[in-house]
Amino acid sequence: MAPPKVYKNFIDGEWVESTSGNTFDDINPANRHELVGMFQKSNARDVEMAVAAAKEAYKAWRLVPAPKRGEILFRAARLLLESKETLAEQMTREMGKVLEETRGDVQEAIDMTFYMAGEGRRQFGQTTPSELQNKFCMSVRSPIGVAALITPWNFPMAIPSWKTMPALICGNTVVLKPAQDTPLSTYNLVQILEEAGVPRGVVNLVTGTGSEVGAPLLRQADVRLVSFTGSTEVGQEVSKVCAASFKHTCLEMGGKNVILVMDDAKLDLAVDGAVWGGFGTTGQRCTAASRVVVDRKVYREFTERFVERARRLKAGNGLDPEVQMGPLINEAQLSAVEKYVEIGKNEGAKLLCGGQRLTGDGYDCGAFYAPTVFGDCDPKMRVAQEEIFGPVVSVIPCDGLDEAIDIGNGVVYGLSSSIYTQDVNKAFKAMREMETGIFYVNASTIGAETHLPFGGTKQTGNGHREAATAALDFYSEWKSIYVDYSGKLQRAQIDNA
Ligand code: NAD
Repeated sequence: MAPPKVYKNFIDGEWVESTSGNTFDDINPANRHELVGMFQKSNARDVEMAVAAAKEAYKAWRLVPAPKRGEILFRAARLLLESKETLAEQMTREMGKVLEETRGDVQEAIDMTFYMAGEGRRQFGQTTPSELQNKFCMSVRSPIGVAALITPWNFPMAIPSWKTMPALICGNTVVLKPAQDTPLSTYNLVQILEEAGVPRGVVNLVTGTGSEVGAPLLRQADVRLVSFTGSTEVGQEVSKVCAASFKHTCLEMGGKNVILVMDDAKLDLAVDGAVWGGFGTTGQRCTAASRVVVDRKVYREFTERFVERARRLKAGNGLDPEVQMGPLINEAQLSAVEKYVEIGKNEGAKLLCGGQRLTGDGYDCGAFYAPTVFGDCDPKMRVAQEEIFGPVVSVIPCDGLDEAIDIGNGVVYGLSSSIYTQDVNKAFKAMREMETGIFYVNASTIGAETHLPFGGTKQTGNGHREAATAALDFYSEWKSIYVDYSGKLQRAQIDNA
């Protein structure tokens, strides 16, 4: 067997080893004996070098016309498209989700790259009349500087692309710090950007742990922007550290998303949505539907059908086309799920299916857990309040729309929610009342598209949005420009009063 490949950091246009001299392993969660690759176990010195390279490259990159920056992104998007299948296979090997979903992850990066490439010709500002004669007013977007991008493992190419592409099109330079469990997909993205012609130092990649790479990155004085996606606990820490030096900070964090099933819902459709939302990506999506609130009039029927479908899901290695649900990302995440299932049982939630680790042929070498449904949940139970990030769904009975909305909103998070109903009045009321950044009607809580703003309210986010033109508002600053061609002193609010 060929020895495992050792992947390097990308700093100032060169693939380099960490100054630590150490590496860490990228392991397949479906088979812990399979080493996907070895990556640099970087440290603060590597971070410093990457930030210095990004700072230097910013001087020229900010002056490259945005449509020209867009041309590089168009090339990158086409290269991603050409390599889609290989990239998806490698992603399944490093993070476990089924091939269909990793293809979707790569496709999201392709969509985002094409979209932001186009924004190179559309960074519109405003021109507007002045209150004074012979004076011209306009606003333009300006780049900000070096952006530190810290990403989680569950969308290892899509999420880095959500951050990198708008950062670049606006004229910023980038230091990317991918999650330790999934560095390969982000490495692949950076390699494609290099091939597409991104100048040296504009994009830098430093792999390693949160404490050894992420934390020092936040403390770099030359980092002006930090975009973080991950857990609410770490996000809170990121926010505190960045506040000390007034870095612009975009935080996308946890969720406890909800599907509301009304008594007039098409139940087959609602069950499809609950299965996809609850068990897609093994429940490890920030938008996963980990709660389903069901009107009592259809509670029994819905729950029976939902449990039946959950039981039949085939778990296994995501490369197998028959498999519908892959493993959890690692043993620690599996232990977290086990702990929550015990908590649910002790709280009195009714375990309707699953509730155990999968063992036996094909499962023993991986972090596999059975699709799990808790019924008769009280909305205040911890399993109905806290993000579990695994294949565990809590079903909660309710009486009518108003109670469903109250339960739906009764968590600290606010990422995604949805309603299944045939009644347009109920749909519009829920659309208005649900305190989430994303809302669906007759669809599950997952399925965001790249040209709409993405992000959450309450403890999911800090008010910024990713994707769409909304992302440009984070990666650029407005400059308002007044041009006075009157040839005399004109004082706003005074001379024209
Ligand atoms: P995590 O918070 O453990 O790690 C996220 C990233 O932060 C990783 O790269 C990690 O190495 C880094 N990090 C850890 N400690 C750090 C520190 N002190 N300073 C700087 N960086 C540090 O999250 P995770 O386990 O990788 O991802 C799962 C979480 O991400 C879930 O809570 C999920 O809901 C959330 N998520 C949110 C969204 C969203 O858009 N809202 C999308 C995907 C995932």
